[in-house]
Amino acid sequence: MPDMSRRELGAVLLAAPAVASGQGVPTGQSKQSFVVIGAGVFGAWTAYHLRLGGHNVTLLDQYGPSNSRASSGGETRIIRASYGPDEIYTRMAKRSLALWSAFFARIGHSYLERAGVLWLAKQGNAYVEQSRQTLKAVGVEFRDVSSADLARDYPQIRLEPGTIAIFEPDSGALLARESVAAVVVEFTRIGGIYRQAGVRPPQGGGRLSEIQTTDGDSLRADTFVFACGPWLGKVFPELLATRIFVTRQDVLFFGIPAGDRRFEPPAMPVWIDFSDDRGMYGFPDIGRRGFKVAFDKHGPPMDPDTANRFVTAEQSAAARDYVRDRFPVLADAPVVDSRVCQYENTANGDFIIDRHPQMDNVWIAGGGSGHGFKHGPAVGEYLVARMEGRNDPPVETRFGLSTKGTEQKRAVY
Ligand SMILES: Cc1cc2nc3c(=O)[nH]c(=O)nc-3n(C[C@H](O)[C@H](O)[C@H](O)COP(=O)(O)OP(=O)(O)OC[C@H]3O[C@@H](n4cnc5c(N)ncnc54)[C@H](O)[C@@H]3O)c2cc1C
Repeated sequence: MPDMSRRELGAVLLAAPAVASGQGVPTGQSKQSFVVIGAGVFGAWTAYHLRLGGHNVTLLDQYGPSNSRASSGGETRIIRASYGPDEIYTRMAKRSLALWSAFFARIGHSYLERAGVLWLAKQGNAYVEQSRQTLKAVGVEFRDVSSADLARDYPQIRLEPGTIAIFEPDSGALLARESVAAVVVEFTRIGGIYRQAGVRPPQGGGRLSEIQTTDGDSLRADTFVFACGPWLGKVFPELLATRIFVTRQDVLFFGIPAGDRRFEPPAMPVWIDFSDDRGMYGFPDIGRRGFKVAFDKHGPPMDPDTANRFVTAEQSAAARDYVRDRFPVLADAPVVDSRVCQYENTANGDFIIDRHPQMDNVWIAGGGSGHGFKHGPAVGEYLVARMEGRNDPPVETRFGLSTKGTEQKRAVY
């Protein structure tokens, strides 16, 4: 199993931005060896933080960073700070936005589209009211948008009477594939090793000395991190098969009329619609891909390896109905692209970032639950602090394995 050269990696990943030489190279002596399995957003950021800390780090992925089967493999992901009463995620989103921004500044190219995020809801909606309180407490900028403001500023959106919104001006969309690819490229530039190979589920207990790859190699390390997203239940069936719920999520892109600027930034922000119970959200036309509309409701179970990724006629019709109601100009717009991805939900939507209960030097990061992408930088930072035995950021019981149920009761949105 050869190391992947920078050139090969570049061919696998999307075009990587040029970086100024000498920036961000770890200065300390190598301390420990780590193998990180999974080059989605959680694994890539964990590996990058570890390498910045001066460790010897190898990052592995079976299909490649942000591949089409991975949960991080989509076009765009929302970065927003509103989380209703869940201040923990508002704080993490704020921290992650700062880390993403610093990272993009370092590599000299940004994959963050600060289009703003508009939360639509009925007047008095409890989640939005709780978000307002939390955003104030954490110090995240937002503004209230009245029904009259909505009608004036967003005439392309048709809303029911009594709909209001909050707007986060600093939030927006991360280009998902490109962002993860850029983290992996930068990780290799500062001395990390990336390899494309699958890893067989580790067996036994106590201290894990090595892992076996699907192409017959074995890798030794002081510590192993499994950031395997929707595959975590396959890697650790006894521990996680009943605690990670992998659900199918359909995404459609509608073509906007030629020359119509109302559906791209700055006229159109990212939007999340709590004003009815269909659970829809979407993105303005970014990268000429089309107007993205998606369902946040959990779909049926799905296998990330074997599923065919065709959007169903039923979901397509439901998206069309929604677009007809909410964005009448697009009522007959063609579907120009589509994607099927999967959420890897925990029972309530809290992440898993914890040590394996039977393997002393094995850590798990996952359970992104449909909202994990934005948090990649803070998840990596949190996990590295745990593995290095530091207390900043402090331990959060909500990320512990022992808090993870086996019955789906979504509580985090
Ligand atoms: C349609 C959709 C919309 C979403 N929208 C948002 C959003 O707007 N905002 C937001 O913040 N989040 C969003 N999310 C959630 C977010 O994308 C995920 O929580 C996040 O990407 C999960 O990252 P991960 O690194 O845990 O998993 P993944 O990205 O799936 O990465 C896991 C990696 O592990 C590798 N792997 C698995 N097993 C092995 C093995 N045995 N050996 C080697 N490699 C292995 C896989 O190949 C994969 O690349 C959305 C998700 C979906 C599907």
